[in-house]
Amino acid sequence: MRPSSAFNRPLLWAAMVALPACIWLPDPGLRMVAVGIVATGLWMAWRQIKRDRQHADLMQQALMLSEEGVQITDADNRILAVNPAFTRITGFTEQEVRGLNAATLAASRHDSDFFKRFWQTLHSKGRWEGEIWNRRKQGDEFPEWLRVKAVTDGRGRITHYVGTFTDISVHKAREQDLRRIGFEDPLTGLPNRRRLHDLMTSRLRHLRAGESLDMAIIDIDGFKSVNDSLGVEQGDRLLARFGQRLAHHMAGGVVGRLGGDEFLAIRTTTFDDHDKWVAGLREHLGEPFEVGSKTLRLGLSIGSCRAPEDGKESGVLFQRLESALYSAKRHGRNVSRRFRPALDVQDSPQMALVYGLRDALANGEQLELHYQTQHRVMDGAVVGMEALLRWRHPEHGMVSPGDFIPLAERHGLMGPLGNWVIDEALAQMARWREMGLPQLPVWINISAIQMFQGELEAALASSLARHGIEPAQLGLELTESVLLDERAGDIVPRLEALRAKGHRIAIDDFGMGYSSLSYLKNLPLDKLKLDRAFIRSLPDDPADAAIVSAVLAMARGLGLDVVAEGVETHGQLDFLQQAGCRLVQGYLYARPGPAEVIEAQWQALKTDSAGLMLRAEPTA
Ligand code: C2E
Ligand code: MG
Ligand code: MG
Repeated sequence: MRPSSAFNRPLLWAAMVALPACIWLPDPGLRMVAVGIVATGLWMAWRQIKRDRQHADLMQQALMLSEEGVQITDADNRILAVNPAFTRITGFTEQEVRGLNAATLAASRHDSDFFKRFWQTLHSKGRWEGEIWNRRKQGDEFPEWLRVKAVTDGRGRITHYVGTFTDISVHKAREQDLRRIGFEDPLTGLPNRRRLHDLMTSRLRHLRAGESLDMAIIDIDGFKSVNDSLGVEQGDRLLARFGQRLAHHMAGGVVGRLGGDEFLAIRTTTFDDHDKWVAGLREHLGEPFEVGSKTLRLGLSIGSCRAPEDGKESGVLFQRLESALYSAKRHGRNVSRRFRPALDVQDSPQMALVYGLRDALANGEQLELHYQTQHRVMDGAVVGMEALLRWRHPEHGMVSPGDFIPLAERHGLMGPLGNWVIDEALAQMARWREMGLPQLPVWINISAIQMFQGELEAALASSLARHGIEPAQLGLELTESVLLDERAGDIVPRLEALRAKGHRIAIDDFGMGYSSLSYLKNLPLDKLKLDRAFIRSLPDDPADAAIVSAVLAMARGLGLDVVAEGVETHGQLDFLQQAGCRLVQGYLYARPGPAEVIEAQWQALKTDSAGLMLRAEPTA
């Protein structure tokens, strides 16, 4: 579009000046010099023109090949030329759009302010870049990432605009999927814990004079026995139904699932009838549910409170709701409790467990670590192990960590318990090293309490030194809720420091619904452990299949490993393998077992030629 640079060359000008001299100069010698200058100038000009043409041809070809759509418009934004990628993306051929104003292709979703800013930036800065929605020939609207540059002539006047763009509709769809995973409980479609925090905060902020918030945590009594007797699938269905009924009853309020069988309900109100409101919830949810061929009437424990009387900040209110619920549960089934500052926490079976745990910690005899291997899908090789805490209670037998860890957290025992786990895992690794067994990384679970009490780093450092183990051999698993627990302060620098020491960091139970993609992106992480809940119904459940595929794609983009948890069947394994999941953990390969069982497994496992690689075939 610019005149060929040959015309800018001094030699060409010299040739043009020398041309008349060829004729008029009297001296033949000087005339020969002038002819020489003219000939050289013309030859240089011809060579430059040839080069320019070649260059233009190459640019043309590059445009033809480009994956990005390209459109060139004149100063009035009328389309002059487009490339094949433009046609591929929009459906419009060059003939169809040539001469059209490019604005006619824009989707209707941008307002005039948007375009005002667009042109202002383009004119003042000479370029614009961003997301913009356009229309395809078929009529549907799609998002594209557009870069536009204004091309000027020698005097700085705009002569053309060159725009290049990529279709980002696929990325957008994925982003939406992931946003959904971040804020929505996958089972019920209701807001998850993280979203509920936001919603509660927003409701608190918008509270006007004379208004209050009534809030209640509703926990289904004995839900575990429903799961055990009817099966997990029916259990899930019941939870979904329960959520729907609650949402229906609370129209205009906030309803969400906090996890497991716990739901939260919030309403803004000007009435002072908190207890009546709770009773209404109970009555409505106490109506029977039809599940499969059974009719179930559920017992409910409800903990409730009211803002601003009981607190003005969502973190405090959540804690108060939890302690109210805890108090309700301690008073037997089907009880509602409103928060009171001095909730009495003595004399309950749970307190007996707490005292028992305190003794177990003091003498260390009833506690054990079990280990579950993690496998590479490709060949079954064992790539690491997760250490899982076990409590062998003298009367109750094995108590599940799911039962006693929350108790330890509530009653100040989690710090010492976590330290016991760190030291025991490292001591075991040292024993395995002495036995000449392969040194595989062991992953331990870290509770929120360990993060915010701030002793974690010191406990790790001293145990690692005591047992002579490298930090790279000890991975840390943190659940999403740990990462988001405000009590732990800004967790990013601490995770960075742990990683700088050599520890690897995994997010446990990923997808259970706390973290958003943008939050994850900023965290120093190595691994995601995809929660069992998503694996359970693979490969048949299309929603879970989509979520698993999206998480795998996202993790790949962020450079993270993914371990699928709770893999129990070949069908699940095949799906995961096809979706590109490289690592798995689950009963299909091995159940968690005490150190001796792991050692026996190791002796029995095949080793490869290097004698290092442990393999296991998945068993049913
Ligand atoms: P997690 O960290 O997600 O551990 C995985 C859980 O899934 C373990 O349950 C494991 O036994 C179980 N599991 C593994 N494969 C399968 C499978 O194929 N099917 C099924 N149905 N389950 C499978 P476990 O040992 O009962 O532990 C439950 C949770 O307790 C752990 O979940 C973890 O959050 C917590 N926990 C366990 N040990 C510790 C610990 O030392 N510290 C802390 N803070 N938490 C721990
Ligand atoms: Mg874990
Ligand atoms: Mg997990």
